[in-house]
Parts: sequence; structure tokens; C-alpha cells
Amino acid sequence: MALEMAVPIIFILTLFITAFIVLTRHQAHMRAQRKLPDRTDYFAQAGEGGACRACGSTDTAEHGLDGGSDDVRIVTCANCRALLYQFRREMPSESV
Ligand SMILES: [Zn+2]
Repeated sequence: MALEMAVPIIFILTLFITAFIVLTRHQAHMRAQRKLPDRTDYFAQAGEGGACRACGSTDTAEHGLDGGSDDVRIVTCANCRALLYQFRREMPSESV
């Protein structure tokens, strides 16, 4: 009796704990993106080329904070995926 009860409970608990860990990590990632320096501050600090502090690459990739069409753009290093800076897109996404 006890064992048949324990298995689904452990299963559900594992599911909840996994979901909690995934959400916590996602929120930490979103928080890290929101507090990135903006473009002007970044280039003032990183110098003319704005090379990645982690690997020195100058290739960047860009994505929206809350999905592809978000006007808050997050720029990451294309080589090591380190978060670099953020900027607000001037044009609303519909008119692009
Ligand atoms: Zn890098």
C-alpha cells in the first residue's frame, strides 16, 4: 500500500521541483538581460570595437527580450553567447 502511494507522489514532486528549477533559471536569465548596460554605456566601457569581454570576438547576435519581435533588443556574443548589452529599437516592429 505505502509503496504504491509513494511512487506517484515522488513522480509528481519530481515534476514540480523540475518545473521550479527551470522557471527559476529562466527568471535569473531574464533578470540578467534586463540589467545589461545599454549600447552607449557598453561601447564607452568596451572601447571602439566593443569586443566580447569573455572571448574577444567582435561578432554579435541579437534577439528580443521577450521573443523575436520585442523592441528591447539583447545583444550577445556570436562566438561564446555571453550577454553584452541591450538597446531599444527605435522603429516599432510592425513598420520594419
Ligand atoms: Zn564571446
